[in-house]
Amino acid sequence: MFSFTEEQSSIRDMIRAFAEKEIRPIAEEIDKTGRFPKETIAQLADMGVMGLNIPEEYGGAGMDEICKVLAISEVSRCCASTAEILAVHLLVNDIILHQASEEQKEYWLPRACEGKLGAFCLTEPGAGSDAGGLRTKAVQDGDDYILNGTKVFISNFGKDEGDHFVIIALTDPDKGTKGGMTAFLVGRDTPGLSLGKTEDKMGMRGAAVSELILEDCRVSKNTIMGKVGDGFKVAMSGLDGGRIGIAAQAFGLAQAALEEAVKYSSERIQFGKPINTNQGLQWYLADMVTRTEAARLLTLEAAALRMKGEPCSKNASMAKYYSAETACYVCDLALQIHGGYGYMKDYPIERMYRDARIMRIYEGTSEVQKIVISRAVIKGK
Ligand SMILES: Cc1cc2nc3c(=O)[nH]c(=O)nc-3n(C[C@H](O)[C@H](O)[C@H](O)COP(=O)(O)OP(=O)(O)OC[C@H]3O[C@@H](n4cnc5c(N)ncnc54)[C@H](O)[C@@H]3O)c2cc1C
Repeated sequence: MFSFTEEQSSIRDMIRAFAEKEIRPIAEEIDKTGRFPKETIAQLADMGVMGLNIPEEYGGAGMDEICKVLAISEVSRCCASTAEILAVHLLVNDIILHQASEEQKEYWLPRACEGKLGAFCLTEPGAGSDAGGLRTKAVQDGDDYILNGTKVFISNFGKDEGDHFVIIALTDPDKGTKGGMTAFLVGRDTPGLSLGKTEDKMGMRGAAVSELILEDCRVSKNTIMGKVGDGFKVAMSGLDGGRIGIAAQAFGLAQAALEEAVKYSSERIQFGKPINTNQGLQWYLADMVTRTEAARLLTLEAAALRMKGEPCSKNASMAKYYSAETACYVCDLALQIHGGYGYMKDYPIERMYRDARIMRIYEGTSEVQKIVISRAVIKGK
């Protein structure tokens, strides 16, 4: 049993109540239409949730990593798309807070707290799991840099979504990940930065994901985060927190699917009795609840370590890997428990099953998490 402080419990209760009232009722509609829930994001900003991990001096709520896990998981329990928007935004907040200059923080963080969305731009057509394959270049020209390249699968970027972007580009292609990349923090209205294709996704249909095109995009050297050559370090600095965020999203969704399965199996009568009186289905439910709880505890443990400033890369990867696999496992069994009805769009489990699938892929695939975990354990960490 993980015990929470008063502040942590109250943020969880507040977000649970808000998500039940405002987010759950529109989850089906935003999935069906692919509409971005901008009214929900504005409400979350008013509640302080979009600036949850930003100190009060920049307009944020100054809450801890456990509060972040509770907030994302409660939102995900009602709508995984909305949780994705929140998780990516909080990841970008975190990177800016720890890597940006004071001037950059003073400009961008208050905007982020108001709900102006942040996006993280690392992935390219030839660089997914292997960030060393980046091709986007930043070439110095006096006090400016000229950016050229294409980023793909950028969350929180769409026709009307996305305000500021952390962009990782090559400043010294020969050095690559070892000092050859630089991070830029750039606003949406920068000439040369434009929206490419917006993706038509299997799940998470309320969350915008698009291509970002950089064509002779001129930015001042003041947009650099950290030092020239620190880009890979900046990108990796966000990973532990980002993975904890996706783990929270995943166990929140697993919890939702479990609840749907318990409800349906209690109400559905076959052979004259509720289907959950069959031991076969009871064992499904036992596995589902046990794995969901284990995912939750792994995630809270990683968050607690990160909060204390202790090394947590292995724990963040274990949490992300296990929670993502659990979300898929639980959604699959929950759909099975719904029988044919689970395959129909009339029941939320069909959407949850599609939403769950991305969790094993983004923020590092399950295979990549296993690389991180096994390397750490071999080194005795
Ligand atoms: C909906 C969505 C949102 C996203 N949001 C963002 C975002 O906001 N910002 C961003 O920068 N990126 C984002 N991404 C990109 C995401 O992080 C990548 O898709 C992911 O890292 C995998 O890269 P890839 O798709 O190129 O797959 P690949 O790297 O090509 O991998 C394909 C398969 O090969 C496996 N594989 C690759 N290398 C190895 C290895 N060494 N050992 C074992 N197996 C391996 C992978 O695990 C996977 O199963 C998003 C992606 C999606 C789909």
